[in-house]
Amino acid sequence: MKICMIGAGYVGLVSAACFSEFGWTVTCVDNDPSRLDDLAAGKSPIYEPGLDDLLERNIKAKRISFTGDIGPAVRDAEVVFLAVGTPMRRGDGHADLSYVYAATEDLAPHLNGFKVITTKSTVPVGTSREIERRLRALRPDADFAVCSNPEFLREGSAIADFTHPDRILVGCDDPRARAVMERLYKPLALRQAPLLFVDRESAELAKYAANAFLAMKISFINEIADLCEIVGADVQEVATAIGKDRRIGDKFLHPGPGYGGSCFPKDVSALIRTGRDNKAPLSLIEQVERVNSERKLAMTGRIERALGGSVRGKTVAILGVTFKPNTDDMRDAPSLVIVPMLQEKGATVRAYDPQGEKHGKPMLPGIVWCQDAADAAAGADVLVILTEWNEFRALDLARMKATMRGAVIVDLRNALDPAPARASGFTYHGIGRD
Ligand code: NAD
Repeated sequence: MKICMIGAGYVGLVSAACFSEFGWTVTCVDNDPSRLDDLAAGKSPIYEPGLDDLLERNIKAKRISFTGDIGPAVRDAEVVFLAVGTPMRRGDGHADLSYVYAATEDLAPHLNGFKVITTKSTVPVGTSREIERRLRALRPDADFAVCSNPEFLREGSAIADFTHPDRILVGCDDPRARAVMERLYKPLALRQAPLLFVDRESAELAKYAANAFLAMKISFINEIADLCEIVGADVQEVATAIGKDRRIGDKFLHPGPGYGGSCFPKDVSALIRTGRDNKAPLSLIEQVERVNSERKLAMTGRIERALGGSVRGKTVAILGVTFKPNTDDMRDAPSLVIVPMLQEKGATVRAYDPQGEKHGKPMLPGIVWCQDAADAAAGADVLVILTEWNEFRALDLARMKATMRGAVIVDLRNALDPAPARASGFTYHGIGRD
């Protein structure tokens, strides 16, 4: 099967690489020349564990290629995926569909024979129908069907998520398109991945409902963590106890500085706007959004309190700036709120992130970027763990303390075991536990 993937970002590139690994031939189209330059040189423009190897193997086998020229890629393909960004629109919080509709216009002149056009981007309910309407207006002569195939992969474990999904969801109203999508995903269906066919509106809404539910779980445990601190309970134990209940599940019950990333903030916001537009306000989700933004703002207060009330003149060592570990993605990372607030309040910030410096540098001006965690700690008054990269779980704390000015740890991810941290001479502050 020949596939055209429009958009070679976190979702497009991973999906394309995985489809090519199944044996399909994939042409990725992107309009960012620097991305195409990286890919032409055999380099992945994003950091995602396992992706370099997958790309190298499939480039060599000529099953995946990259181009800025959409025409031949669309003309050759049976399935055309739209995997472009749908960021939060400035001003009103709706999903910005301008990239989706620009790509729709770009592909329209090249429709030839029966083609399945399918969104992989997260798009508000009704978008597939609107894409179809626009394509019919541009090309009344063309034979095509528009499907919705939302993607549920997580950055950091994207390849495993794509190749071992909990489900593959396809919104589809056309029997010919359904047959094509069944053939496309057959390699995964053979591995018992459930392939769910629903109508397009349900597929589109399910993606937003899933992300809003997960965001709600995070905000829920964050509020429980705050209560734990006051009443002397331990949030880790509470989370374990409730997570054993299969109705609740143990995932997404880790307290922290508030959710961020490329999906939850924008998708929660877009879902709220969809609810309001349809006179069905989602008051629970509106509250989740409010709780989460207040939480990010409250994190600097924790650091101030840990330093006796003020960060003025203090040096703060930040470990981790990406929105989660195993990615270089900085979109809506909590660090983008917390670090500038610390700087405004008079702190000097030293930071280390295993992958975050490249994108983080222009977004977080005025930081001293360090080579490793020990380097960041040198001369600092406090160590703040903001992203739980594995390498922060086994730090040589005694050695780090020897080079620090202070001896305080604020662990906003509960990444460390408090007892050894205290035994190394630190005052340790976690979230929702002593
Ligand atoms: P991204 O910004 O990493 O990638 C988008 C790519 O599309 C970029 O490389 C950009 O240059 C390219 N592009 C934009 N307009 C184009 C056009 N007209 N023609 C060709 N290329 C074009 O975005 P992403 O994180 O991969 O997200 C893509 C979509 O997938 C979004 O809707 C997102 O919500 C959804 N999604 C993302 C994730 C995730 O973890 N990142 C998970 C599930 C779903």
